[in-house]
Amino acid sequence: MIRNSRDPSATEYAPAYAGIPTFMRLPATHDLADVDVAVAGIPYDGGSSTFRTGSRMGPRAIRENSLLIEGYHPRYRFNPLDLLRVVDYGDLEVKVASIEENIELVAEQVSRIVESGATVISLGGDHSITFPLLKAHADRYGPLAVIHVDAHTDTEEGYYNHGTPFVDAIRAGAVDAEAYVQVGIRGAWDPEDPIAGAESLGAEIMMIDDCFEMGIPMVVRRIRQKVGTKRVYVSLDVDAADPAYAPGVSTPAVGGFTSYEILQMIRGLRGLRIAGYDVVEVNPQYDHGAITSVLGANIAYEFLCLAALSRTET
Ligand code: MN
Ligand code: MN
Repeated sequence: MIRNSRDPSATEYAPAYAGIPTFMRLPATHDLADVDVAVAGIPYDGGSSTFRTGSRMGPRAIRENSLLIEGYHPRYRFNPLDLLRVVDYGDLEVKVASIEENIELVAEQVSRIVESGATVISLGGDHSITFPLLKAHADRYGPLAVIHVDAHTDTEEGYYNHGTPFVDAIRAGAVDAEAYVQVGIRGAWDPEDPIAGAESLGAEIMMIDDCFEMGIPMVVRRIRQKVGTKRVYVSLDVDAADPAYAPGVSTPAVGGFTSYEILQMIRGLRGLRIAGYDVVEVNPQYDHGAITSVLGANIAYEFLCLAALSRTET
């Protein structure tokens, strides 16, 4: 069992707000030797220049607001840091001026982490980063099942932006479209029917209305049926939560999940063969009282617990 050495300032007498604000005060390093999980920020929001930018500051805000998460999970009754060696890999390099070049640059860097055998938990950034993330994971594992939690389908046609990553990932062969599920879709935002577009690509869509009608345990059951034993990637756009729980996003859509429903859904993924995780679209510029950043930090922590469970249970 490997204990994580935290920031040197995190001594017995160092309160949570002291020291260098890495994610959960984990050691910051690019050394991937024996690392089980690398938490990496991807501070890119050029994909959201279609509306409200600002999620480039997401990784920083998530780290700041992760400091109170010391590790012990009262539901699972373990501290994932006792089971895994976890590092804060810092932020990946990004090309702010070119979305196409950014896709290549991010994919290269993620591939390096994935090839080391470490599981990546990415902190966005806007949702455009999920295409290079999926590409890098599929290069190692082949086409992946995808659990995509979002208010939006993100399978628009047209020029690349944060509303298109999944259509590009499917066309690049990174997604197993037979096992692609979108959860929490809602809102009026498109001139044409975005649902038909997503469905024609093979996505199974659980509209928010269906989710509330059937309840989260049934949502989880349907996700698990769809994914089965396939290797799966989890992408969570924080705007899936209602703006009351996640006001700091680029494209708010009313009538969404509560924070607890998001956690309940993540906990329901226990035991699936999850290859990688991202939490995207935390936008501190539009946040209030760090509501969204705190949620983002806790989502990343729940991912870490899933990773600990999959390393110990499968
Ligand atoms: Mn969204
Ligand atoms: Mn999205």
